[in-house]
Order: sequence, then C-alpha cells, then structure tokens
Amino acid sequence: MRVCFLGTASAEPTAEDGYTSFLIEAGSHLLLVDASGNAVQSLLRAGRDPLSLEILVLTHHHADHLGGYPSLLQSSSCLGRRQPLTVLCAEPCRTRVRGLHELLELDPPDCAFPVVLDESFRAPDLEIRLLPGNHSVPTSMVWVGDGQGCLLYSSDTAPGPAVAAAARGCGTLIHEATFPQAQAADPAHSGHSSALSAGRAAAAAGVSRLLLCHVGWRKYAYPAAVTEEASKAFAGEVLVPQPFRWYSL
Ligand SMILES: [Zn+2]
Ligand SMILES: [Zn+2]
Repeated sequence: MRVCFLGTASAEPTAEDGYTSFLIEAGSHLLLVDASGNAVQSLLRAGRDPLSLEILVLTHHHADHLGGYPSLLQSSSCLGRRQPLTVLCAEPCRTRVRGLHELLELDPPDCAFPVVLDESFRAPDLEIRLLPGNHSVPTSMVWVGDGQGCLLYSSDTAPGPAVAAAARGCGTLIHEATFPQAQAADPAHSGHSSALSAGRAAAAAGVSRLLLCHVGWRKYAYPAAVTEEASKAFAGEVLVPQPFRWYSL
C-alpha cells in the first residue's frame, strides 16, 4: 500500500498545510479518506486522475472532514465522471451526506454519476472496515487491508484502548495529534488526542510505524515537537507525512 496526505492539519489549517485527508493506493484501487478542502485539485496535485477515484471514506460529519464532499462530486461530474463512486460512511454521517445530496442537488441528473453508499468494502485484494471511534460526535476508525498488510486510521479520537485494539496486527497506525500533552486538561481538546497519546496507542498496538496527522500546529512549541513527543512513548518510526508526497508502507 502507498499513502499520500493531502493535508495533515487539524481544523485550524495553516498557509502551508490543509485539513487532514489522504489517498491510499492499493493495487489498482485508489481511495480517499475524508473529503476536505479542494479534493479534486489535491488529487491532481498528488499526481492522480480524479476520475480514477474508486472509493471515498468519510469518517464523520465535522466540516474539516466532510466539507469538501459537494465540490468533489460537482467537479468530478464536470470533468466527465460517469461511473458510480462508492462512498463508505456510517450513521449519522450517512444521513448528513444524504442531506447534502438533497440540499445541493448532488444526485443524477444534476450530477452525472451516482453515489453508492455503503459501510464496508471487500474485493479479493482490498478490504475496508469502519469501526466505531471515540470522538465528540460519532465517528469511524478506518481499517484497510490489502492481503499483505493493514493500516488503521484512528480518525479524530479521544485517547483510549479501542485504537490499539483495532490496530493490532497492522504495520502502520495513522493517528491524530491535535495538541501537546501539556494541554491535555484543556476542555476544548476533549474528543482529541495528544502526540503522546498517539505514541502510547502505537506502542500498545505493536505497530512498526506511526503517522501523525490532524496536527494543531499552533499548539506545539515548534514543528518537530510533534514527533518528539510521540517518540517518548513509541520506539518505532514516527513521522508527520509531508503533504503531496507518496509513502510506501
Ligand atoms: Zn477534525
Ligand atoms: Zn472531528
């Protein structure tokens, strides 16, 4: 599997870094996890044809994860997409997605292709599962396996044992790191994790690699503090992926 982040920031983006979402390439499959910002432009910048997107996974209905969805559909339609797009999301995100379709006329004939809503995907060489997460609104963690390995994405999450349990057996954990541990008592951060919590989850899961995202860059003293804090709890490889760079897992 290969991943390419289109952004690694929290709901507070910077001039250089947009909201967290990422592409996964597994064999012939191309999937996008969360739709934020200008997803079509980001796909192009990542060197991929937006029309080759097969599956979109939506973790939850917060705007930094779902806000780019309508324009992804509209631009894909304008660019000539005709084949259905599979969109994986669980309730209540699914109801919000249906509401967006109604509000913004995102179904055929206004959109040139249909969306197929589902909650899991299985092909001989790819499996995607949505698992219940722990956030301020219902969210899904995302498990992706290609027969050779697997990764788990925590989505926005409060610290807890569920992430490590879901990631066990995987090589890579993709975990949010919204704030530094020193700010853990701030009630504004409830429903999210520190970099230290991400490191602890990676260590408990037994993965070999931790990719940090949903970073509240302004909350950390300096950029490298994000990985440094996670590395206090986790001895494996830790990085905040560089946006628009492909990484082989
Ligand atoms: Zn978020
Ligand atoms: Zn959220």
